[in-house]
Amino acid sequence: VWEYAPAPESRDIAQLRENYRMFVDGEFVDGAGEPLKSINPATEELLAEVAGAAESDVDTAVRAARAAFDGGWGSMPGSERAKYLFRIARLIQERGRELAVLETLDNGKPIKESRDADVPTAAAHFFHHAGWADKLDHAGFGADPRPVGVCGQVIPWNFPLLMLAWKIAPALACGNTVVLKPAETTPLTALVFAEICQQADLPPGVVNILPGAGDVGATLVAHHGVDKVAFTGSTEVGKEIQRTVAGTGKKLTLELGGKAANIVFDDAPIDQAVEGIVNGIFFNQGHVCCAGSRLLVQESIAEELLDKLHGRVRTLRVGDPLDKNTDVGAINSAEQLARISEISDTGESEGAHRWTSPCSLPEKGFFFAPTVFSNVHQSMRIARDEIFGPVLSVLTFRTPDEAISKANNTPYGLSAGIWTEKGSRILWAAQQMRAGVVWANTFNRFDPTAPFGGYRESGFGREGGRAGLEAYLDV
Ligand code: NAD
Repeated sequence: VWEYAPAPESRDIAQLRENYRMFVDGEFVDGAGEPLKSINPATEELLAEVAGAAESDVDTAVRAARAAFDGGWGSMPGSERAKYLFRIARLIQERGRELAVLETLDNGKPIKESRDADVPTAAAHFFHHAGWADKLDHAGFGADPRPVGVCGQVIPWNFPLLMLAWKIAPALACGNTVVLKPAETTPLTALVFAEICQQADLPPGVVNILPGAGDVGATLVAHHGVDKVAFTGSTEVGKEIQRTVAGTGKKLTLELGGKAANIVFDDAPIDQAVEGIVNGIFFNQGHVCCAGSRLLVQESIAEELLDKLHGRVRTLRVGDPLDKNTDVGAINSAEQLARISEISDTGESEGAHRWTSPCSLPEKGFFFAPTVFSNVHQSMRIARDEIFGPVLSVLTFRTPDEAISKANNTPYGLSAGIWTEKGSRILWAAQQMRAGVVWANTFNRFDPTAPFGGYRESGFGREGGRAGLEAYLDV
């Protein structure tokens, strides 16, 4: 029987405490709202209690952010602001081990991913934006680019530290101040980040972190002291926020859900494609907005590819996220596990063929075995809805035109993948696809220089690169 016994040293490395407080105006303070309980999804054990914000805390934090903006941060020379961002980037690196273990405990993702992807990519984001801070006047934004003011930012649980970096780094680089609400199930690394802000001597009020549930997010985005709203999360909540912000004059960017097509043409290098498909859907348990959740494979190679794919998925190690060999960790919450199960069951009842990896799952914790559905039709729910879990739907096509038409047959438009040896086909398909990012012969590659964001119901606005700064500047 597989037993989970968390190594005591992992708690030490994560510097885990019993209580976490929220961060307002440069200080850690108690919240007036309901405290949150942070659970380790791999063991269902309580990790820590976290102060929860109430409406009055939102107001205090927004006022602190305004005072910091007016009190000097908003008019500080970019070269000075850059120093703070460089410091923060270096401190994320220095505290990388602690952050990686804490992220894995809080979120359930494999330690090799938090160590090799989440933390270094978050640091890279701050390094990249530190480099922008003193160049804004010379980058063609228009005359006299200025910060927007106070930013209200709300993020999801799938990449807690990385989503924070995507939000805070560009905001600070441009001279804005921030009130950020992390997701209720994963607030811990955001509060370590608050410590990093203290260590970096960031002026009080420039960054404020308010843990809380959705109602705190709703209060924050509606607050009249907020000038710009940035949201990453579900399309449903994104639309609600869009309605709240409408008519207020606030700037708004939305990074929402996805149902990405990953297209494999018959001339693709099959073994390489199989690795890309596995990475596309099983990375981070499939809790990825740009996950390659719809595999579109050319009919003539479908059987061979599916055989190879099943063989490869069998080898994925599912279990203890703290084990360096684990490929697929825990689902972040019981609710998310129930949602994945529910949508997956409709796949069977609607007539798709369900294949489940014959791995053994830990008895405790929220786990879901990697699952591949074949014989999937476009009208099925598993082909339409974002499952946000380790579940792949496989569809086939005969001609390139059919592939593109199926790929675009979704209200989303965040990302897509193409596998082919033909360069001309890559350029053609990338132009045909309505998606913010199209990867060719690779998947899930992120770089702070490359703007990321969606079309249609995947939202609007970009994060990363020069385009990502536009939302944080007035010209
Ligand atoms: P969610 O929308 O339920 O929650 C996201 C955040 O919004 C949380 O912090 C939550 O507390 C808060 N929130 C909930 N209701 C709110 C309201 N009415 N007003 C303001 N804030 C509110 O999404 P989730 O389940 O945490 O995350 C998964 C979703 O996020 C998926 O749909 C995924 O595709 C999307 N996502 C998108 C990107 C991207 O860049 N496009 C990146 C990561 C995740």
